[in-house]
Amino acid sequence: MDKQQEFVLRTLEERDIRFVRLWFTDVLGYLKSVAVAPAELEQAFDEGIGFDGSAIEGFARVYESDMIAKPDPGTFQILPWRAEAPGTARMFCDILMPDGSPSYADPRYVLKRILAKTSDLGFTFYTHPEIEFFLLKDKPVDGTRPVPADSSGYFDHTPQNVGMDFRRQAITMLESMGISVEFSHHEGAPGQQEIDLRYADALSTADNIMTFRLVMKQVALEQGVQATFMPKPFSEYPGSGMHTHLSLFEGDRNAFYESGSEYQLSKVGRSFIAGLLRHAAEISAVTNQWVNSYKRIWGGSSRTAGSGGEAPSYICWGHNNRSALIRVPMYKPGKTGSARVEVRSIDSGANPYLTYAVLLAAGLKGVEEGYELPAGADDDVWALSDAERRAMGIEPLPQNLGEAIELMERSELVAETLGEHVFDFFLRNKKQEWEEYRSEVTAFELRKMLPVL
Ligand code: GLU
Ligand code: MG
Ligand code: MG
Repeated sequence: MDKQQEFVLRTLEERDIRFVRLWFTDVLGYLKSVAVAPAELEQAFDEGIGFDGSAIEGFARVYESDMIAKPDPGTFQILPWRAEAPGTARMFCDILMPDGSPSYADPRYVLKRILAKTSDLGFTFYTHPEIEFFLLKDKPVDGTRPVPADSSGYFDHTPQNVGMDFRRQAITMLESMGISVEFSHHEGAPGQQEIDLRYADALSTADNIMTFRLVMKQVALEQGVQATFMPKPFSEYPGSGMHTHLSLFEGDRNAFYESGSEYQLSKVGRSFIAGLLRHAAEISAVTNQWVNSYKRIWGGSSRTAGSGGEAPSYICWGHNNRSALIRVPMYKPGKTGSARVEVRSIDSGANPYLTYAVLLAAGLKGVEEGYELPAGADDDVWALSDAERRAMGIEPLPQNLGEAIELMERSELVAETLGEHVFDFFLRNKKQEWEEYRSEVTAFELRKMLPVL
């Protein structure tokens, strides 16, 4: 037994923890959990715990339904909302096949596989997510309009604002679980919050995001409101993005940084961005995986009025340009050695493991093949005409899930990164969602057509 495993077993005893939840994530990004008694853990560390994978989205075909969940002791945390003795703790798991080999249906493994490749190339991949979400008054009953929990706006700081108490309690809880928060504020729309996590390696970040979503929902319930990560719950307000800052390190050195070059970007940094751009459309079904995701990224610059809300809709990069898909944040004088890129398409409904895997694959492809970075866009690309954008070589992101699926289906990069099983399952599942949506007669049509036709 290794040191981390011993630490877990000792802590269970010292803290009187009687329930250990083993967590993993399905292909669509939903958190799954099975609770085991502490007495089972020694064996779980050794061999894992068997479960029937056929009931879990994307995990197994019925004829090969036996799966094994093996807890990762490095992810052990006590759940603060279950802290009173006897307490509850959690660990993330790796999912294995009955013969002990890693399951190709485990999103965590998809990310681990590309991270291993990254490390073979001599790099470590860091991520810093800015997570936006809404607080709603009640859980909306099927199909009715949600009601935001407050009526504040961007950076508003008003007493009696649900969001303020909420953020305080939420952040305290995250910190007590070892998840460091860098910034938090009220976002542009009523009820909308943003909490930014401190940068960490991509696997920890993805685990942290899964924890984050549960913690937000938990704290919201305690405060009599509901948290939602739906990308675009309101037509008239901005949606919820999960912008993420990415960087590659070689040892202690930021591989995107080069002193004195344009925007302090090294050749690696420039090719990485070029890779993100060239493959942006084909990875879109993963970074923006829901029918609803495409309602958010149709464009428009205002944070409050209208509904575009500063989400990107065109494939371009810019220096401090919020209309661009990729932004290279302002270089801070005095902060030498630092460079990163912000990807602004990702929404809060994404599966973080698969999303970081495809983004990393796209960026690395650029680095490996030495892609040239096209010229940056300084203009507000939403304000340009189609013709102007075309003249600048700026293509739109897919307009809807259907288009995104078609592009993904032809993508070697995505097939290779997700692996055959996840790739096939994901496409099948998303096609079904798209078909269902296409056949639905919406409130929009009824409102527009019925009175006049
Ligand atoms: N809510 C916007 C989005 O959906 C982002 C606003 C911001 O720049 O933080 O991407
Ligand atoms: Mg924001
Ligand atoms: Mg941002």
